[in-house]
Amino acid sequence: MTKGNINVSVENIFPLIKKFLYSDHEIFLRELISNATDATLKLKHLTNVGEAKVEYGNPQIEVKIDKDNKKLHIIDQGLGMTAEEVEKYINEVAFSGAEEFLDKYKDSAKDAGIIGHFGLGFYSAFMVADKVEIITKSFKDEPAAHWTCDGSPEFTLEKADKTERGTEIILHIAEDSTEFLEEARIRELLNKYNKFMPIPIKFGTKEINDPEHEPKTTKDKDGKETTKDKDGKETTEPHRQITVDDIINNPNPAWTKQPTDLKDEDYSNFYRELYPMQFEEPLFNIHLNVDYPFNLTGILYFPKLTNDMQIQKDKIQLYQNQVFVTDNVEGIVPEFLTMLRGVIDSPDIPLNVSRSYLQADGAVKKISSYITRKVADKLKSLFNNNREDFESKWNDIKIVIEYGMLSEEKFFEKADAFALYPTVDGNYYTYQELYDKIKANQTDKDDKLVILYASDKDAQHSYIEAAKAKDYEVLLLDSPIVSHLIQKLETSKENISFARVDGDHIDNLIKKDDTKISKLDEDQKKALDELLKEVIPSEKFMVQLEAMDSNVNPFIITQPEFMRRMKE
Ligand code: ADP
Ligand code: MG
Repeated sequence: MTKGNINVSVENIFPLIKKFLYSDHEIFLRELISNATDATLKLKHLTNVGEAKVEYGNPQIEVKIDKDNKKLHIIDQGLGMTAEEVEKYINEVAFSGAEEFLDKYKDSAKDAGIIGHFGLGFYSAFMVADKVEIITKSFKDEPAAHWTCDGSPEFTLEKADKTERGTEIILHIAEDSTEFLEEARIRELLNKYNKFMPIPIKFGTKEINDPEHEPKTTKDKDGKETTKDKDGKETTEPHRQITVDDIINNPNPAWTKQPTDLKDEDYSNFYRELYPMQFEEPLFNIHLNVDYPFNLTGILYFPKLTNDMQIQKDKIQLYQNQVFVTDNVEGIVPEFLTMLRGVIDSPDIPLNVSRSYLQADGAVKKISSYITRKVADKLKSLFNNNREDFESKWNDIKIVIEYGMLSEEKFFEKADAFALYPTVDGNYYTYQELYDKIKANQTDKDDKLVILYASDKDAQHSYIEAAKAKDYEVLLLDSPIVSHLIQKLETSKENISFARVDGDHIDNLIKKDDTKISKLDEDQKKALDELLKEVIPSEKFMVQLEAMDSNVNPFIITQPEFMRRMKE
């Protein structure tokens, strides 16, 4: 047996960190399961490259509560550690990491601005345990090791008789942390942090219907029911229960797959998995998948956001390599998109930093603008591929789009292709379509395009009718941020102004179209043309019938430039 001192400069580091991270004790489980996952994935890699000549098999991670003895076990079948490696990785690396962490964050760790506590690692076990044991057997042909530490910098290290490969961490749960001996509490944590981790995690067992015993009930013509088992024998036993491992996670969540391998149904099933209590179907999804210049995967969903529904933020979950980090994505996802739901997973988002640092980080800025661009591209393709469907969803998505147009210049530019302006008659125009539709008919005396709009169809009914009688288009703009949007459009688009349909603007509009409609019919034109040719010498002057854009002048006479010079 070896006894030793963990090399930390602080006399007793454990109570310190316990105090600093008081509110966040629960993350110890995430850290230990992350380590168990890493150890398993490392073994997988070593067997793949032929460095570990062992059977990889179907390794699991198991979490077990031993309430009577106040212990929590985390068991993996990963690569394990030799005694030497325990010395190196646990005594030196893990604890120096902890010390470094303390140094760096003792002032800010309690600050809610910190997004994650990654890097705390193995050491976080001491937030909830007053004694920790590691029993580990390396995949290498070496004896198992048993490490014990009671929360002071002293540890013991001895041989153990564990024969199966892997590591078992045993936490002796402290008096003030007994909540972590409750099944419901552990299940809650596993659900929160580990639901999509890549190695199956077993937590207890559950009863299911035996798939080998699937009785079928049939009715004959008299209505008499018979139940037969799968061999066709009559049975009275409807279902047979069997006990199986309760695997709490889905190791292959949809966002880790290729978009081409997923059907609509897979996306909506994944939405259910993420939000079991959300019964409304999402409107559409956006699959994010990029590996250069940063790594990011994820699926975002546009939820149905109706006006009477409280807009809920913080529904997007941030993961790192399938480990849940936080559901506060402020600073990472552009603000207007925090109304969306879904998952983003990126190892390139720095954790253990404050929000303000995060917002200034170059990689994070790129991620944010990538997300904005992907969302815009998706909206554009939805619009192009099925306009009718897009129009039918407009009311539910407009708040996000309009908010985005106001807050992100890039998005504003892109939104020109799909942002819709509905009319009181239920038509939906893009800006360009609207412009083309009204440019000849709705300008004021300064040649400014005047866009008429109503905000309440019923209250402004008579004004709307009056405008329609003059062939004007009237938009129906009723979203809560419409006045901001109008201002934004007026300053961004050239020479336009918005006017309320019940304002006095409507009387000042000039109907250019009138001028183009000829007041003369073909015979009259011909007669006039001949008459003019007789009275005006054609070698000196040019005559154009109804050339001017005004019904005041049925024709104009011009003198070519060279003739004017000849006179001089
Ligand atoms: P990190 O995971 O960031 O490396 P930790 O403090 O969590 O830091 O762990 C320190 C080291 O201890 C790990 O890098 C690993 O080498 C070793 N270790 C921890 N848990 C296990 C485990 N379950 N199996 C094998 N090695 C482990
Ligand atoms: Mg770790």
